[in-house]
Amino acid sequence: MLDTATNQPVLPPEIARRRTFAIISHPDAGKTTLTEKFLLYGGAIQMAGQVRAKGEARRTRSDFMQMEKDRGISVSASAMSFDYGNFRFNLVDTPGHSDFSEDTYRTLTAVDAAVMVIDGAKGVESQTQKLFEVCRLRDLPILTFCNKMDRESRDTFEIIDEIQEMLAIDVTPAAWPIGVGRDFIGCYDMLRDRLELMDRADRNKVAESIEINGLDDPKLAEHVPEHLLDKLLEEVEMARELLPKLDPQAVLEGHMTPIWFGSAINSFGVKELMEGIGAYGPQPQIQSAEPRQISPEEKKVSGFVFKVQANMDPKHRDRVAFVRMASGHFKRGMKLTHVRTKKPMAISNPVLFLASDRELAEEAWAGDIIGIPNHGQLRIGDTLTEGEAIRVKGIPSFAPELLQGVRAGDPMKAKHLEKALMQFAEEGAAKVFKPSIGSGFIVGVVGALQFEVLASRIELEYGLPVRFDNSQFTSARWVSGDRAELDKFVNANKQHIAHDHDGDIVYLTRLQWDIDRVERDYPALKLTATKEMM
Ligand code: GDP
Repeated sequence: MLDTATNQPVLPPEIARRRTFAIISHPDAGKTTLTEKFLLYGGAIQMAGQVRAKGEARRTRSDFMQMEKDRGISVSASAMSFDYGNFRFNLVDTPGHSDFSEDTYRTLTAVDAAVMVIDGAKGVESQTQKLFEVCRLRDLPILTFCNKMDRESRDTFEIIDEIQEMLAIDVTPAAWPIGVGRDFIGCYDMLRDRLELMDRADRNKVAESIEINGLDDPKLAEHVPEHLLDKLLEEVEMARELLPKLDPQAVLEGHMTPIWFGSAINSFGVKELMEGIGAYGPQPQIQSAEPRQISPEEKKVSGFVFKVQANMDPKHRDRVAFVRMASGHFKRGMKLTHVRTKKPMAISNPVLFLASDRELAEEAWAGDIIGIPNHGQLRIGDTLTEGEAIRVKGIPSFAPELLQGVRAGDPMKAKHLEKALMQFAEEGAAKVFKPSIGSGFIVGVVGALQFEVLASRIELEYGLPVRFDNSQFTSARWVSGDRAELDKFVNANKQHIAHDHDGDIVYLTRLQWDIDRVERDYPALKLTATKEMM
């Protein structure tokens, strides 16, 4: 059944109140600060600053994380849940650095919306644009937060124009900033005719909210200094005339983004943004799957793995599979079917991530993210159901753009190295290919920094110094098709053939010309640069 106003299915209230989203931004725009404030308002932490503090306490436990800190990047993603108003928010953290785009892409398959944070002085930056394009591939609804308004920022119309032009999306102001930089005093709430005033003295204080009876209300002049008032009135009038009105349906379809202006560090605008995600953000969405799609309100529980993180606690060699619940009401202890292996799995100690602490999840609804500790059975792309053989689609694995050979410093440790590499392959941290001729492995990544991360993790987690060397190959393609033709092809190209960690056949080469030739000579075979993970 569809709700006629929103065109969305009518869901049980527990599911309808869920909002599962990620934050996309360019490094330094304020993602961490905004996340802290979300958690502060959500009651998940008592004091802002704890996300960072806790993050650091955790990080010092391993030098790998130290490296992450030194470089100021976040390699590992996690999920956090918190309540605000009537809503349950699930925030899935995306790794910020462009070298980890594949991980980011998969994270975005687990959310229903994205909050785009931009710096008011810098506008749309390169990483924002890249991440936005990924969201667009999935038509994800986007809500925009223009941060750092307490600093000198660009003209409001100019910022809105830039987003419209660079990202080709309609922008509608949900709030209008009053003054800039030192003069910034708050926003006029365009949707509810309210004045929100920032308190510079107390950074954690929720803004003061004043009801205003339209722009003619004399109350405005009581709170807004004269030199800012005229500009505000003129701009709001112009904005109402020139910019599109908020159309909730267009927001849900990803064609329009509402924009809020604020200052995360001063806690300003955050509450309005959260209310906006509640009011205009999507409820849990239908999941595409084979042989049929999964609707969140289905009674039976299902979910899929979008991320695997190993060695979160170096003392225990555990892996946590992050599962996005796609349907139903999950209860701890349930037995679910692991569709790939057809085996039952009792989910007895799932975890929910409240701020940076783990807690046992007694229950979860469609839209939630839970972590399932396991010993490697759960892989990215796996589906869990109550028995039906459904597989969630659309979680891709990209062909790596950089290939290097890898050897253990100590040749006796080759088996150890293989084990370490397989683990990272399952985590999705790298592609690992075993060439059919010779010994050793070829490792493929999307960004060069990943080689360094891998080398330091293998050394730390497995006590194994390794060396990466240039490989003669630069491209990898998965090969599939007619069995007899495939055998013929493999036999004739042994020098170029390898197997990935799932045992699938990969063609390695350094020339596009080779790929074209294979496609011409073997029309019954398919060469692909992506593979669905399942
Ligand atoms: P991230 O890299 O996107 O996670 O950004 P952070 O949240 O770490 O913020 C980057 C820097 O900008 C930090 O020094 C923050 O203190 C600062 N910052 C964040 N929000 C604001 C804001 O609203 N105003 C000002 N002036 N600085 C901010």
